[in-house]
Amino acid sequence: MQQALSRSAAAAPYAAPSDLPLLSPDYDPWDPIRSLQLYGRHKLTSVELTVTHLCNMRCEHCAVGDSLTMSEAPHLPLDLLFRRLDEVRHLETISMTGGEPTFRMETVRNVLLPVLKYARERGIRTQLNSNVTMDFERYELIAPYLDVMHISFNYTQADDFHRVGFARTGRSVRPETTAKLYDRMIDNARKLAQGGLLVSAESMINYRTHERIADIHRLIVEMGCWRHEVHPMYPSSFASSLPAITRRQMMDAVKTLLDARHPDVWMLFGTLPFFACSENEEERRLIARLRDEPNVTVRNDPDGRNRVNVNLFSGDVYVTDFASIPPFGNIRTEKLDDVFAKWQNHPMQQAVGCHCPAAGCCGPNLLVQDMYYRDVDFTKRRAIL
Ligand code: SF4
Repeated sequence: MQQALSRSAAAAPYAAPSDLPLLSPDYDPWDPIRSLQLYGRHKLTSVELTVTHLCNMRCEHCAVGDSLTMSEAPHLPLDLLFRRLDEVRHLETISMTGGEPTFRMETVRNVLLPVLKYARERGIRTQLNSNVTMDFERYELIAPYLDVMHISFNYTQADDFHRVGFARTGRSVRPETTAKLYDRMIDNARKLAQGGLLVSAESMINYRTHERIADIHRLIVEMGCWRHEVHPMYPSSFASSLPAITRRQMMDAVKTLLDARHPDVWMLFGTLPFFACSENEEERRLIARLRDEPNVTVRNDPDGRNRVNVNLFSGDVYVTDFASIPPFGNIRTEKLDDVFAKWQNHPMQQAVGCHCPAAGCCGPNLLVQDMYYRDVDFTKRRAIL
């Protein structure tokens, strides 16, 4: 499969240059385990930029919903950003997120494009988190410089998209209008994938999707996505008012997906609440299955391990764009490597700073620990293999 992807990408306008390693289950530079293995300790290799707080949608589960606005201030000068990125010694990846980063053409031209070109010149891999519901023209501009187009996909039909994607608009949005956006999103994703771009569709396992996850996967495959990324939903921002599902339901959804998945599509799981150190044998069996299945990976959580989030308006640096942890630095006055080092010594990071090399695991996400493991000291646990 990977060779096939590589060949088709070489002939496609949005394919990454052939001298860059192919992103694949064997090479995922967003996973903090790589730099941990390489340097023997966590290093800052990944920077996420919040480039807008504007969005044309208001998803019911939006993890940054409370920070969305109707207007916004000018961005910080990119010179300052590039200087700070130049200083990051081990930088390997840059992600851009929002809001909807392509909501304003001005952001596409004045922020996304220059950042993507900067990254490509340095051989740094990039990801854009977008709902791909805007005109294709915007995606066409950036796709030749981008490595991963990351979209959300939690639907089996346009009605779901209407119910989920516009739940928090605070006004009535006509189903005919959202149906057009749904079709455009599918069309855009398909065109980008056909052009050789790694389109990665993310679904969350939650009260709406856990019994329909196989159908969602099928549609993602039909869109031509190269990767299906799957995370449980955690109660952050808008999502905190939604019903939670049990760990049993979550586990069943993961198993269903593993049984139903298309074998050629890379399945990437993240922020799962199951670990190789679990006392529950069934959870450990699931972890072993995830490890052994071809084209399936479980990405360790980058937030605070190899990645920080920079707000491109205030310059504030966060451990993640969605947790309610205050900023712990600012790029106006500090180097990113220094800010990252401060976080490594923070008690919250140290509480989840475990590492079991044999399991390829470096501990839980902060939201996972908060939701399921408040009384557990992970630094005292070991993988049971
Ligand atoms: S690294 Fe931490 S979470 Fe992972 S198996 Fe070991 S103790 Fe458990």
